[in-house]
Amino acid sequence: MNIEIINTGSELLLGRVLNTHQQFLCRQLADAGYEVTRQVAIADTGEAIQEAVREAMTRSQLIIVTGGLGPTSDDITRDKIAELLDCELQEDPEVVEHVRSFFTRRNRPMPDRTRIQAMIPVGAEVIVNHHGTAPGLVIPAGESCLIMLPGPPRELRPMFSMQILPLIQDRFPFAGGFASVTLKSTGVGESLMEEMLEEPLSELRKEGLIVGFCARTGEVDIRLAATGEGSKELVARAERIAREIGTDHIYGSEDETLDQKIVELLTSQGKTLSLAESCTGGYIGHRITNISGASAVLMCGLVTYSDEAKQKLLGVSATTLEANGAVSEPVAREMAEGALRIGGTDFAISVTGIAGPTGGTEEKPVGTVYMGLATKTSTVVKHRINAFDRETFKFVTAQQILELLRQELIR
Ligand code: ATP
Ligand code: MG
Repeated sequence: MNIEIINTGSELLLGRVLNTHQQFLCRQLADAGYEVTRQVAIADTGEAIQEAVREAMTRSQLIIVTGGLGPTSDDITRDKIAELLDCELQEDPEVVEHVRSFFTRRNRPMPDRTRIQAMIPVGAEVIVNHHGTAPGLVIPAGESCLIMLPGPPRELRPMFSMQILPLIQDRFPFAGGFASVTLKSTGVGESLMEEMLEEPLSELRKEGLIVGFCARTGEVDIRLAATGEGSKELVARAERIAREIGTDHIYGSEDETLDQKIVELLTSQGKTLSLAESCTGGYIGHRITNISGASAVLMCGLVTYSDEAKQKLLGVSATTLEANGAVSEPVAREMAEGALRIGGTDFAISVTGIAGPTGGTEEKPVGTVYMGLATKTSTVVKHRINAFDRETFKFVTAQQILELLRQELIR
């Protein structure tokens, strides 16, 4: 089955708005087993819209068009598609009522112009917009099924997940079903992960298992999917094998994050954490505190950027700093141990490094980082070279130390 997405909006082509619909829709569809075969972004001119739809009708069974359903003069998607399909537009009294009540609820007068959103192509199904005024529309287009969705993400997303996807699943069912799981890993590159899993999964591949890898900074996603009879069992078997092989690196699945995992593990073990950050400037604290429930496990995070702060707040000794420099194994160790002592926690982590682009030396190039993990019985310090831009440096460094902590927690 061919599925095509047409995102309308000149703002997308001017680079003013990031085309998040593309990712959202592809992801939602892929998670349900439908692979999008083509996606285009086009200007919201009548010609571009009609040309894109006309072309899509020659090759795709399902066409999803986003944007341009609103009441302003540049919102012409509905009109232009109706014209192309030779459908008349008729005012739908229920939609008029929906638009009216939308304004009434907000205690605002209904602008006359908004009534245009109730002009529905004859033969189209109306999909109620629970978060706005313009309804979604489903309409036969030749041999294809064409779906129009409103542009604002807060309207499109719930409409797609709650109303459109079930409709697609109903009209385009899979014989025998579909199953997929995405495993999240960190600490190992894409090629190595692929190499590790290749042989163990090769038999299941012959049975129809689809394996995909997606690498992003500091993480690799492993997607296991199958369609047809027995797909659930096949994916479950593959997941068991992958988790066993990648046990050191796979921390979760689907939308789980490493930060979530850390808070979860600390919570379930009744353990607490303190942070001593230098080059990450509080970023590790930021990630942990993004997770609801962090207050039960995070005692404190000290951002000790200067040598002075490292001494005053963490008790790092002046001699250690002088002898080794702030970016060094002994300082990372004393930072972690200082945070553990001051926080009185079960764990403390520390990072000290050179984010760059300046400040590197031959001995300690830009990207050099030392990270410590102190527990009540021992302290380990790791050395890494993370030569990236400053923000990526922070992310990768945080990822590495959090992964080290996770390893300690699952031991
Ligand atoms: P409205 O009633 O708000 O005019 P509409 O259905 O006419 O809705 P558009 O005018 O095309 O939709 O887009 C409305 C807003 O939604 C845009 O200004 C933009 O911020 C956002 N938007 C539209 N398309 C996308 C997209 N592909 N990705 C992300 N945001 C988008
Ligand atoms: Mg609009």
